[in-house]
Amino acid sequence: MLIGINSDCCGYNKSIEILPLVYSAGFTHVMINEDAGDLETQIMQAQKIGLAVSCVHLYGKTKKKIKESIKLCKKYGIGNFILHPTTLKISGVAFENIDAETNKNLRGSKLFCYDCGHHYLNTPSEDFLKQFANTFAIAHIHDNDLKTDLHWLPFDGKLDFHKIMNGIKAIYKNQILVLEVYKIDLANIPHPPYKNMTDSDYIKTAFERAIKLQQMVL
Ligand SMILES: [Zn+2]
Repeated sequence: MLIGINSDCCGYNKSIEILPLVYSAGFTHVMINEDAGDLETQIMQAQKIGLAVSCVHLYGKTKKKIKESIKLCKKYGIGNFILHPTTLKISGVAFENIDAETNKNLRGSKLFCYDCGHHYLNTPSEDFLKQFANTFAIAHIHDNDLKTDLHWLPFDGKLDFHKIMNGIKAIYKNQILVLEVYKIDLANIPHPPYKNMTDSDYIKTAFERAIKLQQMVL
């Protein structure tokens, strides 16, 4: 089971300086966020240092912008895209579960991105992995306190990762799993568990957690 990490895990617009740390920590794959800097620059930098870009999280607001980004990604051999649920009809993109209201737009989508943090925070009674077993394409893995969408590292919050990983294992067919985690909050302040960590420490710890998740499903 392959687990990557988002390249903006230590802050927006820090992808370029963070990518070498991601590589040296042991990760082989990254997810690039479209709104965390120039998309093409981020992709080129990742590939230059030997990281595979397993997917791109798109945030384009218009169909035209989204299609342009997809075309750019395909130029670099990237074929996996994630979007928040939208009423726009776009093929080849995996839509992720957010909350009960937004999830209404998941109906009929051909590719599903399972987000475990949003699942247990916002819609714990749903069984997404059963419901979308046939369209499960990618997973976003992160933790929270079941009150706020914190995007902490797995095992720092209250989510039951034994249950989550067993659920994924039951339908797993080499899909990409991505730690979608943040050292800092939206105000650029470190989350309490990470306030004494350097970016390098944080990414090394993230890699240890990825290994722990992999070992849970061996
Ligand atoms: Zn997500």
